[in-house]
Amino acid sequence: MVNDLLASIEASPRQEQKADQNPMQFGVLAIQGAFVEHEKALARVGVEPVEVRLPEHLEGLDGLIIPGGESTTIGQVAERWGLLDPIRAFARSGYPLWGTCAGMILMAKEVVDAIPGQPLLQVMDVTVRRNVFGRQVDSFETDLEIPALGDPPFPGVFIRAPLIEAVGKGVDILARLEDGTVVAARQRNLLVTAFHPELTEDDRFHRYFVDISEVSQIDQNS
Ligand code: GLN
Repeated sequence: MVNDLLASIEASPRQEQKADQNPMQFGVLAIQGAFVEHEKALARVGVEPVEVRLPEHLEGLDGLIIPGGESTTIGQVAERWGLLDPIRAFARSGYPLWGTCAGMILMAKEVVDAIPGQPLLQVMDVTVRRNVFGRQVDSFETDLEIPALGDPPFPGVFIRAPLIEAVGKGVDILARLEDGTVVAARQRNLLVTAFHPELTEDDRFHRYFVDISEVSQIDQNS
């Protein structure tokens, strides 16, 4: 009797159902900076946020965000915790990787004004300049026309932002300031923004990023 009961519990479809309904899981590198805000935005677009502090936290993730903050600190700690190579491998396998602000600095193949020896991921074919907007104009907000997101314009929040000075072949420019400065770009599964979508209530960039995952999974399967 008890055995029957146990057998029926084991065979219960609940587990399978749960597996089917599991939302995608997206990591946020949780070393320093605005990672909690990214987690909240990911939850709002229906995926499960996972804090990444160790290489094993990358297992099973559908994508990863490197938040804004201080690129030198994030890079140094990521190096100490053995995360740089595993994140490079994650990106090379085609999983979506998105760097906002300091995260964009870490992802760029070339960084002008990097601190000598600053640990970087160097995975995306862009040249980025740090702290361009200077100390006086630390922060500003401006509406950005982003064709990939459609109307209305996207609220760009810039905080001691870097900018993209040059992009390689195969890199699409997603957004520019009115003076032409490039502030968002994509190279296949890699996305960078100089500004902070996670500090706004507009979730279109997070949705766009999650959609990259669906496309790159199709790529991986084909
Ligand atoms: N200027 C900072 C750096 O070099 C980035 C600023 C930010 O992420 N808001 O890391």
